[in-house]
Amino acid sequence: MDFEVKGKTCLVTGASRGIGRACAIILGKEGCPVAVNYVQREKEAEETCRLIEEAGGRAIPIRADVSRSEQVEALVGEVSEKLGSISVLVNNAGIAPMRPPEELTEAIWDETLMVNLKSAFLMTQAVLPGMRRAGWGRIVNISSNAAFTGGRVGPHYSASKAGMNGMTHSYASFYAKEGITVNSVAPASIATDMIANDLKIKEPYTPVPRFGHVDEVAETVLTFVRCGFITGQTLVINGGFYMT
Ligand code: NAP
Repeated sequence: MDFEVKGKTCLVTGASRGIGRACAIILGKEGCPVAVNYVQREKEAEETCRLIEEAGGRAIPIRADVSRSEQVEALVGEVSEKLGSISVLVNNAGIAPMRPPEELTEAIWDETLMVNLKSAFLMTQAVLPGMRRAGWGRIVNISSNAAFTGGRVGPHYSASKAGMNGMTHSYASFYAKEGITVNSVAPASIATDMIANDLKIKEPYTPVPRFGHVDEVAETVLTFVRCGFITGQTLVINGGFYMT
């Protein structure tokens, strides 16, 4: 059984902060060259790369709005040129503009679906040809507990993440025979900017009486990357929220 991922080129979207940064670092520590994508925060993305290099790894920051097809194409082209064909994709980039239904506009709906869901579709389509040529690939989508429970961000966010789970299962079934696995991780209440600033959640609300740590999500992502027999799964990391 081969769990070795050393040397596999990884691309993590939205890796300048939070969960994406933790995923990039854990993959970098496994000896994978990592492309650290961001959309606005260049310094934070450079810091992610510095942390990976400090741990003995190799990383490059690359700006791209992954909800735009032309930028996705350029991103995948640049990563392939600089780090090699992409073997591991973590679709993590996301936004959570909190709106109750009565305040939800078409523009917010479209933006959320584009950044959270369409981006994962565009990225997956862009990396699949290389993975199929190699006969090996790992795609991990960062979904949300809100796909199942609704959550407090609003219907747009919940729908984007539920869509991601459906997409995960569909891609997984198409490519299981070709050495490509596709899984999703559905967190809740992980201590990041999204929880503190966007959702303004100050107190833990899960049966496990604390916020989750980004490394707890990253460890799960790494398990999906290392194991070729798990595919089409969505694993919820929510501090026991379902028990409430
Ligand atoms: P975060 O701290 O707000 O970080 C979001 C990341 O996404 C940043 O790196 C940001 O880049 C990037 N990003 C946003 N829009 C982008 C775009 N159009 N193109 C490329 N990158 C983009 O969020 P987080 O809490 O780590 O969340 C990461 C993922 O986990 C999201 O998909 C989120 O929905 C999901 N999630 C989080 C929680 C939680 O409890 N934290 C729970 C459930 C699901 P810049 O820094 O350049 O802006």
